[in-house]
Amino acid sequence: MEPSEIEVAVIGGGVIGLSAARAIAASGRSVCVLEREHRPGMGTSTHNSQVIHAGLYYPAGSLKAQHCVEGAAALYAFCDTYQVPVRRIGKLVVAYSAGDAERLDAIRARGVANGATRLTMVDTAFVRAREPHVRPPVAAMFSPDTGILEAEALVRTLAQLCRDQEVAVLAGTPLVACEVLPESITLVTPAERIRARVVVNAAGLYADDVSALAGGDPFTIYPCRGEYAELIPSRRGLVQGLVYPLPHTHGLGVHITKTMAGAVTFGPTAAYQDRKDDYEQNRLPVEAFLEPARELLPAITLDDLRPGGTGIRPKIHPASESFGDFLIRRDSRVPRLIHAAGIESPGLTACLSIARELAALVAETC
Ligand SMILES: Cc1cc2nc3c(=O)[nH]c(=O)nc-3n(C[C@H](O)[C@H](O)[C@H](O)COP(=O)(O)OP(=O)(O)OC[C@H]3O[C@@H](n4cnc5c(N)ncnc54)[C@H](O)[C@@H]3O)c2cc1C
Repeated sequence: MEPSEIEVAVIGGGVIGLSAARAIAASGRSVCVLEREHRPGMGTSTHNSQVIHAGLYYPAGSLKAQHCVEGAAALYAFCDTYQVPVRRIGKLVVAYSAGDAERLDAIRARGVANGATRLTMVDTAFVRAREPHVRPPVAAMFSPDTGILEAEALVRTLAQLCRDQEVAVLAGTPLVACEVLPESITLVTPAERIRARVVVNAAGLYADDVSALAGGDPFTIYPCRGEYAELIPSRRGLVQGLVYPLPHTHGLGVHITKTMAGAVTFGPTAAYQDRKDDYEQNRLPVEAFLEPARELLPAITLDDLRPGGTGIRPKIHPASESFGDFLIRRDSRVPRLIHAAGIESPGLTACLSIARELAALVAETC
């Protein structure tokens, strides 16, 4: 079977792959997206907290810091332009000990250095007025430019914009093998073969497998599950916005978020696991959320909680390490392969900014 020809093939139809495809097609190149599920965005892109982060926590100079801050600005503008539901709801970060108050000062300084806007240390009166049911903290910071959006709508809009630019979004099309030549990479799927000049690896949890299929650089994606509990609807009025404790090793700590649909969630937890597709086995009992939730909202009882969703972080580092940056670069062994791997949080926030970088790498490679 003769392969069909395309200039650029993107593996993965999540927010990273779709944003990248759109940015690459804008320069007039022919682009396709291979997505193995029957529709785009069924992976991590729709299993997350749906928060537009401001860029507080990431080391200065990291890709996470850079793309979070640039991506947040781009994403707010995008949502306004294309009517993706979004709200600048604001986030409180609360400290409950003198030690945590010092850490909070450091987080603010880091956020400011990263370019996060309008971060303000606030007093208990501010916290009480805004969140009367939150346990009064020793110190608190307010980030008015942290927001929420509807991730499903973002995926739908990106996919439609891709199609409008004649990107072939091939759902139900898994990449199963690659044939690498100096001038091209032929992608093998169960139904067809596609010869591309450049391939972008945006396969999320499976980015390491895709690199291996192409004989590219070896790296490992470690799945790390995050679980949520929700407040029952009649208690949603206890919380107005986003409330976070100080971050811990593998995540931001069990925090309170709101969704555009009005749900109030606690989570996500963080637990490394073996499988990349296991969202449900051995779920934490809802009781496990009560203590961390009451740290922030003392009024709630077990009856106020019910199980929520789960997501799986595509970590680029093992549990023994605490930080790994996004891996966005051309492969050293297969120069026609470009990776966007280890795109855990703030990847949703950062998707449009990461897409710009990927489009620039493609332009250099084509
Ligand atoms: C619990 C949790 C909470 C989070 N909260 C936030 C948040 O509040 N704010 C934020 O900014 N970020 C958040 N994130 C991070 C954010 O969700 C991700 O960074 C982002 O969704 C990554 O998108 P992606 O396109 O890289 O991955 P995905 O959405 O997983 O897309 C990858 C796609 O590749 C496809 N694929 C894989 N292998 C193949 C193959 N062989 N052939 C074809 N297709 C393939 C998959 O089916 C999938 O659709 C959170 C993540 C988690 C897990």
